[in-house]
Amino acid sequence: MKRRTFLKSLAATSLTGAGVLQAAPVTTPDPIPIRTLGTGAADFNWSKYGEAGVRGSCSTLVDGRLLIDCGSTGYRAVRRFGVNPDAITDILFTHGHSDHCSPKEVRDLAAARSSEKPKLRLWGVAPVIQHASSLCADAVECHPVQIGVQTGICGFAVTPLPANHQLGLSHDPCEARLAAHYLIETPRGNLLYALDGAWMLKHARMLIGKKKLAAIIWDATLSTQNDDFRIFEHCNLHMLHLMTGQLKRTGSVDGKTQVILSHMARTLWPKTEEAGRKLLPDPSWQIAQDGRTFTL
Ligand SMILES: [Zn+2]
Ligand SMILES: [Zn+2]
Repeated sequence: MKRRTFLKSLAATSLTGAGVLQAAPVTTPDPIPIRTLGTGAADFNWSKYGEAGVRGSCSTLVDGRLLIDCGSTGYRAVRRFGVNPDAITDILFTHGHSDHCSPKEVRDLAAARSSEKPKLRLWGVAPVIQHASSLCADAVECHPVQIGVQTGICGFAVTPLPANHQLGLSHDPCEARLAAHYLIETPRGNLLYALDGAWMLKHARMLIGKKKLAAIIWDATLSTQNDDFRIFEHCNLHMLHLMTGQLKRTGSVDGKTQVILSHMARTLWPKTEEAGRKLLPDPSWQIAQDGRTFTL
């Protein structure tokens, strides 16, 4: 990675033997691209993937190498947006719903990579990566993560957070599994990846603690609706506004935090980005689009 150097201020200057002030060169990390390859909820018809207005399943590429989720259109999006499969070294899964985890798309991505490259590494809670690897077990390495336990992935410190998004409908609370969100700490600041999930759970809020968030990619399945059944496991704009207020008051969010909305439902958002923008409670928020790049 190319590094930009800049001269640090007087604090870092040193006296040379000749008594001349010389500035010490310091490196600053390069910007990290965050590319939303897919931004839609599961109500899109993915037999029409690639047609105008059809968002792909949610998938995000961090720094060109860490893919978060690879669901129904995961590998198809990699091809569509010209991403080199060899550049993707790791996939981090949030949960096992098919729009986030498709064994077929994972297999296709693994098969497209050069055999000389190290195996694709899969990260996520154990049952999810077991499922993800089921069609290509020999081509991938599985690395289970645990909620609340920080792990190094692609040089980032990644903490899995519990999400208010249930998998399965077991009535036994011990068996009910939740999706994971991720706090990804990078040299350019912290990214909160929060798809899918409704209200942030208290445990997740405590794990974030006083850490500042440079960017949040947030579940905005609903826009302004208050009465859709999906509200129990996804967010609307009002909920995001309330949570942002709390995060601001406690110092994790400030005027510089990028709030990026994703996982928009086909039936709950206007067709055009312009019409969607008019609904935002904060004009600085951004609506993700398939293939668009944000920068950390
Ligand atoms: Zn989803
Ligand atoms: Zn889901």
